[in-house]
Amino acid sequence: MLYSKEDITSIEEAENFNELPTSITGIDSLESLINQDIPNHLKDFVDPDSLNHRKFVKTLFWQKIPAFKNVSEEEFLDIKFQNKQTVRKLEKLEELTKGIVQPEFIEEVKKGMEKAPMNLSISPYILSLINWKDPYNDPLRIQFIPINSGFRPDHPKLRLDSLSEQNDSPVDGLVHRYVDKVLFLPLDVCPVYCRFCTRSYAIGGNTDIVDKQRFKNAPKKWNEAFAYIASRPEVEDVVISGGDAYMLAPDRLRLIGELLLDIPHVRRLRFASKGPAVMPMKILSDDAWTNALIDIVTLGRKKGKEVVLHTHFNSANEITDITRRAMLHLFQNGVKVRNQSVLIKGVNDTVDTMVQLVRKLSYMNVQPYYVYQHDLVTGTEDMRTSVKQTVELEKAVRGVTAGFNTPLFVTDAPGGGGKRDVHSYDYYDETTGISVYRSPSVDDSKLYIYFDPIDSLPIEGQKLWEDESLHEDLIDNAIKNSGFESLNPVY
Ligand SMILES: *Cc1c(COP(=O)(O)O)cnc(C)c1O
Ligand code: SF4
Repeated sequence: MLYSKEDITSIEEAENFNELPTSITGIDSLESLINQDIPNHLKDFVDPDSLNHRKFVKTLFWQKIPAFKNVSEEEFLDIKFQNKQTVRKLEKLEELTKGIVQPEFIEEVKKGMEKAPMNLSISPYILSLINWKDPYNDPLRIQFIPINSGFRPDHPKLRLDSLSEQNDSPVDGLVHRYVDKVLFLPLDVCPVYCRFCTRSYAIGGNTDIVDKQRFKNAPKKWNEAFAYIASRPEVEDVVISGGDAYMLAPDRLRLIGELLLDIPHVRRLRFASKGPAVMPMKILSDDAWTNALIDIVTLGRKKGKEVVLHTHFNSANEITDITRRAMLHLFQNGVKVRNQSVLIKGVNDTVDTMVQLVRKLSYMNVQPYYVYQHDLVTGTEDMRTSVKQTVELEKAVRGVTAGFNTPLFVTDAPGGGGKRDVHSYDYYDETTGISVYRSPSVDDSKLYIYFDPIDSLPIEGQKLWEDESLHEDLIDNAIKNSGFESLNPVY
């Protein structure tokens, strides 16, 4: 039986959906168990009120935006309102934030957009969750709105396609890097645009600094990718990304799901969408889309194949009671959701912010899967952390909750080496910020090199990068010290 959204009124109600057959088991009723005296607790009590990850914003938070002052809950939850009010132009941002933000801030954004590899696109949901009293330091502002004074000079090794996806693309819109899995890119649009997008070379419209490669959202254009997957019996796993599966019309979502599930060797599908983090109400109000997803998951299960949703929350501030209800709806209808975060300075790079995120996701049955070391993308130097910081963060996070809800911290090796456990470097120099990885399952002839952001380095390290004539020596030294000089370095 499928649960409908109307069945869910509160998490308390869902939790109380149990009846212990105490008379049969001989176990005391829950009430009397709670009152029993425990002689020695060993551990200090935790004040339930301190467990912030269990608190979900239930207020009409969007009404603090002057233009949304009279918007009812029903209207705000309507996907049509979210689409219509999405901010894609500076003028719209200015109009919606008039009275709650200083004109200097808008001027900062205007100049910031001239340097940005991504266009502006902010859902009303995200716009309403930004702390407009201090937008400069807000974790959602940092992700979606560029500001001039925020930019740092790029590390000399930053690029638009830092993962070299275009080199591993046998047909348009498909990346085949690992043996048994492929990445299918059926479209190049998203409900929001993230400043740090790893596919800045393709996603969204052109900006002042980037002419984009396009992925076509048209079934006819997908035939080559489907034919390729069908021709490769070793491929068991298809990631459908983009762009964002939220932007696929329900019939196209179904078509992709059904066609791929029909290929006998394909065993696993993952639809990738940032949507739950930036427009969770779609899951509650766009029944055609949500039911298409649920139907593909159900069809997959019938065929003995796994279909899941991979999403992209970066901050607990993105999560409200709307999110909780959306995730509960998916969970109760058998849709497994996993999360992939990007580690971003000022967003989730402290123990507290990352632990809150991991716990909150876990509480909603969203499984924290990966945390990515920030890719070496042009225009994102201010958002990156060093490998050293990431390793420290991982140490602090592992153990705070269930192991299966503890994300793996990975570096997607620059130049196409694929994901590597951030700890697994063959050499790391904290002064120059150069780390060196091998990736035998992807290409055992290569050595992959990652670079920490320059302002995270000790002063002596920062000085070394100031002198361009030293750069090649710094890299050569790291390669020599790794003991893998015989491999071909890429970055
Ligand atoms: C991340 C990625 C995948 C999926 O990798 P998992 O580690 O299984 O999540 C597949 N192909 C490409 C090109 C990728 O970048
Ligand atoms: S949602 Fe994903 S693909 Fe789209 S801009 Fe953000 S990171 Fe890039």
